[in-house]
Amino acid sequence: MAFYSEEDNADDYLFKIVLIGDSAVGKSNLLARFARDEFYPNSKSTIGVEFQTQKMDFDGKEVKAQIWDTAGQERGAVGALVVYDISRRQTFESIGRWLNELHTHSDMNVVTILVGNKSDLKEAREVTTAEGKALAEAQGLFFMETSALDSSNVTAAFETVVKEIYNILSRKVI
Ligand code: GDP
Ligand code: MG
Repeated sequence: MAFYSEEDNADDYLFKIVLIGDSAVGKSNLLARFARDEFYPNSKSTIGVEFQTQKMDFDGKEVKAQIWDTAGQERGAVGALVVYDISRRQTFESIGRWLNELHTHSDMNVVTILVGNKSDLKEAREVTTAEGKALAEAQGLFFMETSALDSSNVTAAFETVVKEIYNILSRKVI
């Protein structure tokens, strides 16, 4: 399995990234916000987009992230956003299971960020920032709290993963 694949331009990189986590944590809306700057108040309306290819620029090199929003697409992924909902503790407690799932189907080195979504729901918060941070540190993951609703940290979360993959690859090539 290739760590990256070359398309028409030798300087282009294509990375497969997966979005995983319990139902209704906001995976589809994080992708919609990142790729199209859209938000869907009703989750049903997000169904239909399996993956989205997003172009990013690092050091003048074009990097394409193919981001999958479909369960069971972990094979071949080099990056992952593992998402829970800060207003539903149960979704945080599922994270260990999602990490196992990820590591069963992909490389152990898959660049992973733990994402606590719906940070706008301050009154309904059930998982503290410190708890998210502690789990991420224990598992060796990046960590960020995001809101697909108010756009907070959405671009940053995706870029953290893609930039780290790009950096690892650059180090390997040189
Ligand atoms: P998925 O099943 O993980 O793909 O979740 P969806 O993206 O379909 O979102 C589930 C529900 O949560 C929808 O009603 C969204 O509008 C809502 N939602 C998603 N992200 C946020 C967020 O950051 N803040 C708030 N308040 N609601 C969100
Ligand atoms: Mg969805």
